[in-house]
Amino acid sequence: MQYYSLNNKKHSVSFEEAVINGLAPDRGLYFPNNIPKLDPYFFETIESLSNEEIAFQVMQPYIGNEIPENELKKIISETLFFDFPLIEVEKNVFSLELFHGPTMAFKDVGARFMSRCLGYFNKDKDTQNTVLVATSGDTGGAVASGFLGVKGVNVVILYPSKKVSDIQERQLTTLGQNIIALEVDGVFDDCQDMVKKAFLDNDLKHKNLTSANSINIARWLPQMFYFFFAYKELKKYNKPILSSCPSGNFGNICAGILAKKMGLPITHFIATTNANDTVPRFLENGIYDPKPSVATISNAMDVGNPSNFVRIQEMYANDLKEFEKDFSSYSYSDEETKKIMQTIYSSSNYIAEPHGAVGYLGLKRELEFQEESVGFFLETAHPIKFLDIVEPVLSINLEVPEQIKSVLNKEKQSTKIKTYQELKDYLM
Ligand SMILES: *Cc1c(COP(=O)(O)O)cnc(C)c1O
Repeated sequence: MQYYSLNNKKHSVSFEEAVINGLAPDRGLYFPNNIPKLDPYFFETIESLSNEEIAFQVMQPYIGNEIPENELKKIISETLFFDFPLIEVEKNVFSLELFHGPTMAFKDVGARFMSRCLGYFNKDKDTQNTVLVATSGDTGGAVASGFLGVKGVNVVILYPSKKVSDIQERQLTTLGQNIIALEVDGVFDDCQDMVKKAFLDNDLKHKNLTSANSINIARWLPQMFYFFFAYKELKKYNKPILSSCPSGNFGNICAGILAKKMGLPITHFIATTNANDTVPRFLENGIYDPKPSVATISNAMDVGNPSNFVRIQEMYANDLKEFEKDFSSYSYSDEETKKIMQTIYSSSNYIAEPHGAVGYLGLKRELEFQEESVGFFLETAHPIKFLDIVEPVLSINLEVPEQIKSVLNKEKQSTKIKTYQELKDYLM
């Protein structure tokens, strides 16, 4: 499979180059030259397939012969070694729990998959790649854990000072080895801007920089798996299927839409956001008008200018009418989020953390218009990762899972920076 730059269809590269570059030289995001269609037989028999088998069928056409079959199977099995339970919260409403991985965030899947692809491409080389990543919360920890000890890769993580939770901060600042954390005096968008700038900086060319945000195809594409796993469980209801994604950079939902274009029978997608409502406003008035991000209790979605939205627009050839048939987008305040967390807990005894709760809100809204459907929202993090909010809002004490206990007593190691120049000096 070749990947073209969304800024220039004539510039296309292999899977390996796209993974190593992260972003095309003209700043465009990469996109597959064609979207493979899965055989209807695959969907007819999906119940009989394991998660690993599903993932292999979905991913293989995007890689072609660049990674041999047995190596790809190994990468997938190292990526998907935990469960993705679909929990019935109430009638027709399901939570797809994506948080049972090593850092208890859905980003574990993309980070592990990408790191192992890079490890494969580096296996016979002496080059050093530097993975540069901006995080609004969960990416950092997942990338740190996913890339820890991977051959030929150094990881530099930028995170906004005091805008990530204590556990999130520890997950990305305590590992050491090839993982370095830079604490930026600013918001997430400042971190993301610095990363984008570094990729375009000719002085840094020789550093082999790449990204591990969802702009990187090896981070982004494996997120399709979730939607196939949910379909496998929901198929038996024989109803239209709605999927609500709590959205920040829109990587997850964009992967879901790509899965639909491959033939996955999910009827409708809902991108649910917090107060960072660039996309809901776009759907209302047709004007894409990004604003600086504002801080909310669902901080992993505090993104003012979602980088994957251009990929979604590409899939609909910028046709808003077609797009609206498959897609809705709603925004919710922190107050609404807290209130619904309490309602879900009291009526279903289910603990939703703020991101999942936002997803639930969007799903319920759409179900009002599409009553005959069944739906799932993505629960993108374990409640413990947002315990500062979950515990007081629900008046409960959460039990600390093993994965988290192991980071709580480790020392934070980070370097404070404020300007792009400081980042550059650091990388040089
Ligand atoms: C990253 C993240 C999101 C947003 O996902 P996108 O793919 O960027 O839209 C939602 N919830 C949590 C917990 C996250 O870490």
